[in-house]
Amino acid sequence: MRVVLLGPPGAGKGTQARRLAERHGIPHIATGDLLREAVASGNDLGRQVRTYVERGELVPDEVVLALVKDRLRKPDAQAGVVLDGFPRTVAQARGLDRLLCNLGCRLDAVILLEVAEEALVRRLAGRWTCPVCGRVFHELYHPPRTPGVCDVDGTSLTQREDDRPETVRRRLAVYAEQTAPLVEYYRARGLLHVVDGSQEPQAVAEAIETVLRRVVEVF
Ligand code: AMP
Repeated sequence: MRVVLLGPPGAGKGTQARRLAERHGIPHIATGDLLREAVASGNDLGRQVRTYVERGELVPDEVVLALVKDRLRKPDAQAGVVLDGFPRTVAQARGLDRLLCNLGCRLDAVILLEVAEEALVRRLAGRWTCPVCGRVFHELYHPPRTPGVCDVDGTSLTQREDDRPETVRRRLAVYAEQTAPLVEYYRARGLLHVVDGSQEPQAVAEAIETVLRRVVEVF
């Protein structure tokens, strides 16, 4: 099963992608996580992409496509993948089609998580992430049991640099300009499924499973 989770920053792609990947035993590939890891490690790729990520701008398509190409070739990605935060431009979507075609497979479904803009800003502003396991918490909607500490591994939670209000607005504008056209791209190919991302995470997860059961039946 090869699935893309599409939606604006704060729509819940990371949370849902992680659940979906765990449930189906396939890797969760989040380009944002891969890029943040590269920035944190200070390697060549990290130096190349740092300013884009910090400003909430998109990293150039060829850089992201090269990263995804390497990741899709790894043995654990052969049975399926959940892609989160990729593709983000029509050029990336075309590149993904080519990569999958070369690997002898194709996308099964694209799930669009829809959430109103005011809710996105509220969600991103209160978001805290575990730097070790990647779990995401929220001050109001999903607080950790002990404030500031990950429920799973006890690590101190951190706030993403690009979740600052000015950068959040920039990221939402970038989504509207460069990523929203993918909705039509995938609708035209019969792959798009819209899920209401404003519901509780459990309800969103169930809605996604219902979509995927239908997709699997069709094939
Ligand atoms: P995310 O964690 O998905 O919100 O991504 C964080 C940041 O990483 C984005 O604001 C971009 O700067 C960069 N990024 C992540 N995925 C991509 C992508 N597919 N194409 C370009 N830039 C990306």
